Amino acid sequence: MNDDLTIHHDAVLFFGDRDDGVIGLPGLTHDGHVIEISYFFGLTRPKNIIVISSQVGCPLGCSFCELDGFVRNLTARELHDQARLMIGEAFRYGFDPTGTPHKVTVADSGEPLLNPFLVSGLESLRDLPVSFKVSTVLPAARAAWRNLERLADFAAGYERPVQLQISLISTSEERRLRSCRGRIAGFDRVREAGELWRSRNPRGRQVNLSLIVTDDMPCEAARVVRIFPPELFRFRFREYVPTRHGAAAGHVAVSPERLRRIKRDFASRGYQVGDWASPSPVERRFGLAANTIRRMYLEAIGFSRKD
Ligand code: SF4
Repeated sequence: MNDDLTIHHDAVLFFGDRDDGVIGLPGLTHDGHVIEISYFFGLTRPKNIIVISSQVGCPLGCSFCELDGFVRNLTARELHDQARLMIGEAFRYGFDPTGTPHKVTVADSGEPLLNPFLVSGLESLRDLPVSFKVSTVLPAARAAWRNLERLADFAAGYERPVQLQISLISTSEERRLRSCRGRIAGFDRVREAGELWRSRNPRGRQVNLSLIVTDDMPCEAARVVRIFPPELFRFRFREYVPTRHGAAAGHVAVSPERLRRIKRDFASRGYQVGDWASPSPVERRFGLAANTIRRMYLEAIGFSRKD
């Protein structure tokens, strides 16, 4: 245990092998909560990825997510210490996250744009040779928009790529809006986010729009090509990995044929389409959606710790 860090752990979950693997750390906060930190590596990934959490719990309650309820924001120091904790663990398994290109993604527990310490947390990781990705559903709250502006300014001044990913969920706006209990932005506001990102960060990449591809989720390029032009946005297709809440909400995994059709449809409209977001064989085998590692840990300890 590293006593200098504000986040600790007493278990490590290792899945797969060096060619396709995941290290999961249930991160323990000083006030007894459990968050998820994970590390994805393997031959098919362009970079190894450290995934950290932004909040304890989450206020948005998306239907496909494992998390329940909101407790608090993680501080900038706690954001920093999650990455440091995982780097220490990765070293133990023979990886060197400080010597090879790595990405830190803010995507596990919580909604990053609702955390006012997000940008100061990323600033505190500046000394690592990493790129960043922030994954958001884009809440409707004004505080989230102000945080997005701060993030865009940070990205413009950062020496390595900072990727913004918005979980659009569906190409049906109505389906998107009813997928979360909390208020999230409609399509017009998502488009404005793409314009803001481009205007403040003109050399940056397009904004990723991520679709949760289930067997019944509307995913049709014709519905969105006018509002989300390929110059500003690219689409990311993440096959739904079954979760408990997702099963209760009736989500069903997509068939390979439907997924192929959806990708062809988006490519024919000029969108950049790739397989970089597809779950790896190990992620599929162990059902590793965000926060399932945290759930496995809580089940192993009999839910005796506050979550
Ligand atoms: S998917 Fe993300 S935004 Fe939605 S409830 Fe889960 S952690 Fe929160």
